[in-house]
Amino acid sequence: MFEYAPAPESRDVVDIRPSYGLFINGEWADALGDAREKTINPASEEVLAEFAVASEADVDRAVSAARKAYDAVWGQMPGRERAKYLFRIARIIQERARELAVLESLDNGKPIRESRDVDLPLVAAHFFYYAGWADKLGYAGLGADPRPLGVAAQVIPWNFPLLMLAWKIAPALACGNTVVLKPAETTPLTALAFAEICRQADLPPGVVNIVTGAGETGQALVNHPDVNKVAFTGSTEVGRLIARSVAGSGKKLTLELGGKAANIVFDDAALDQAVEGIVNGIFFNQGHVCCAGSRLLVQESIEGELLDALKRRLSTLRMGDPLDKNTDIGAINSSAQLAKIKELSDAGESEGAARWSASCPIPEKGFWFPPTLFTGVAQSHRIAREEIFGPVLSVLTFRTPAEAVEKANNSPYGLSAGVWTEKGSRILWMADKLRAGVVWANTFNKFDPTSPFGGYKESGYGREGGRHGLEAYLDVRPM
Ligand code: NAP
Ligand code: MG
Repeated sequence: MFEYAPAPESRDVVDIRPSYGLFINGEWADALGDAREKTINPASEEVLAEFAVASEADVDRAVSAARKAYDAVWGQMPGRERAKYLFRIARIIQERARELAVLESLDNGKPIRESRDVDLPLVAAHFFYYAGWADKLGYAGLGADPRPLGVAAQVIPWNFPLLMLAWKIAPALACGNTVVLKPAETTPLTALAFAEICRQADLPPGVVNIVTGAGETGQALVNHPDVNKVAFTGSTEVGRLIARSVAGSGKKLTLELGGKAANIVFDDAALDQAVEGIVNGIFFNQGHVCCAGSRLLVQESIEGELLDALKRRLSTLRMGDPLDKNTDIGAINSSAQLAKIKELSDAGESEGAARWSASCPIPEKGFWFPPTLFTGVAQSHRIAREEIFGPVLSVLTFRTPAEAVEKANNSPYGLSAGVWTEKGSRILWMADKLRAGVVWANTFNKFDPTSPFGGYKESGYGREGGRHGLEAYLDVRPM
C-alpha cells in the first residue's frame, strides 16, 4: 500500500477581508443596523470573516437599486449586449477559478477536488450557456417576443454556494431581469467575491445586488412588494412558507426543495461501476446534495456481494482537510447540520436498522461525520423517509422491477433517481414510471447547464437549467 503525502492547496490565492458590507447598486454599502454575523471554516472552526446582516430597510435599498437598473438600463438593453457581460463574467470566473475554489472549500468544508473539478467548471459553464441564449430568446419556443419579468429575489442554500448563485443569476440576467440575491448565512464568501467579479466585468450598477443575512433577511426579500419573481432553493419547510407568502401576490415563483432519491441497482448491473456510482451518489459533497442517492435499492440476489464491495470501497475514502487534494470527504457544513445528521442516524439505530461506518480518524476540530450505511432498513423508518442531508446511505432491497418502482416512488419527494442495469429497455421502462425530475442511467449526480433540473411533489416546482430554465424568468404569452 502506498501512503499519501499531504498535498494541501495554498490559501495564499484568496484574499479574505476581515469584514464585508452589502453589495448594492454596484457599491459596497454599510448595513443600516449594527447586526453582524461571522462565517467560519467548518473544518477548523476558525472565523474567516464578519458580514453585515441586512434588515428590511437594507433589502428595500437593494430592491430599489435593482428596479432602477431594470427600468433604465438592463430591461432595455438588447440581448446581444447583455450577452457580452455574461460572457465576460464567465471568462473572469474561469480566470479566477482556483481562487474561488479555495474560497468555497474554506467557507463550506467541501473537498478542493470537488470545488475545483465540479463546482467551478459548472459555474463558468452556466454563465457561458445562458450568455448564448440572451440574444435568442425569441427562438426558445416560448413565444416570439418573450419579455423579462423585472426584479428577481433569489435565496440560496449553503451546499453549493457559488453554483446555486450561477443557477439563479445566469438565466435571470440573460432574460433581462435584475436581481437581489441572498446567500446562506454559513457560506456568504463566494457570493461576495462574485460581487467583485460584477465590478470587474463593468456590469451596470444595480443589475446584481447581494444582501447577506439569515432567514429573516431572506423573508424580507421574498416578501418585498416590488419584486416580480421569487426563486428559492432550500428546504421543503421554508419553501412551503414562501409559497404561502407569495400566493396571490402575482410574483412568479420557482422552488427547488429537498429530495430522498432512490439509486436502484439490478442484478445484471456492472457492479464495480455501480459501486462508484453509489459512492458518488451519496458521499459526494458529504451528502449535502438535494438530489443525493440516499436510498440504495439493491436487487435481493446481489445484496451481499454489492455491500461487501461497497464497504471495501468506503474504507478507502479519505476524510479530512478539505484543502488537501487527496481528500474525498470534507467537513460537515455546520454544527447544526451535524446535529441533524447524528439525530437521524441515532433514530435509524433505535428503529432497528444496523449501522456500519467506515473507520476513519476524526479530526479534533471542526464538524465531521464518517461515511455511513444502514442495512435492514424498512420503508417506514425515518432514515428511509426523511432527508438526512449528510453522508448516510439507507439500504433497502427489492425482488422485481415493479417492486423497485413502488419503493422508489414511496416518498413525499421526487427530485432524482438512478437506475443501474445492462438492459436498455429496462432503463426506459423504469424512467417512464419513476416520479422524479431527473433519472440517471448507469451514472449519478451528473450535471450539465443544458439539462433541466427540478422536482415532483414536495421537491418543488419549476425547472432550472436548459431551455426550460428560461421560462422561469420570462413573461411568456401563449403563441
Ligand atoms: P433552508 O434552511 O431552507 O435555507 C435556504 C435559504 O433560505 C438560506 O439562504 C436561508 O437563510 C434562507 N431562509 C431561511 N428561512 C427563510 C425564510 N423564512 N424566508 C426566506 N428565506 C429563508 O435550507 P438549507 O438547510 O440551507 O439547505 C438545505 C436544503 O436545501 C435541503 O433540504 C436540500 O435538499 C435543499 N436543496 C435543494 C436543491 C434543489 O435544487 N432542489 C439544491 C440544494 C439544496 P440562512 O441559511 O441564512 O438561514
Ligand atoms: Mg462558513
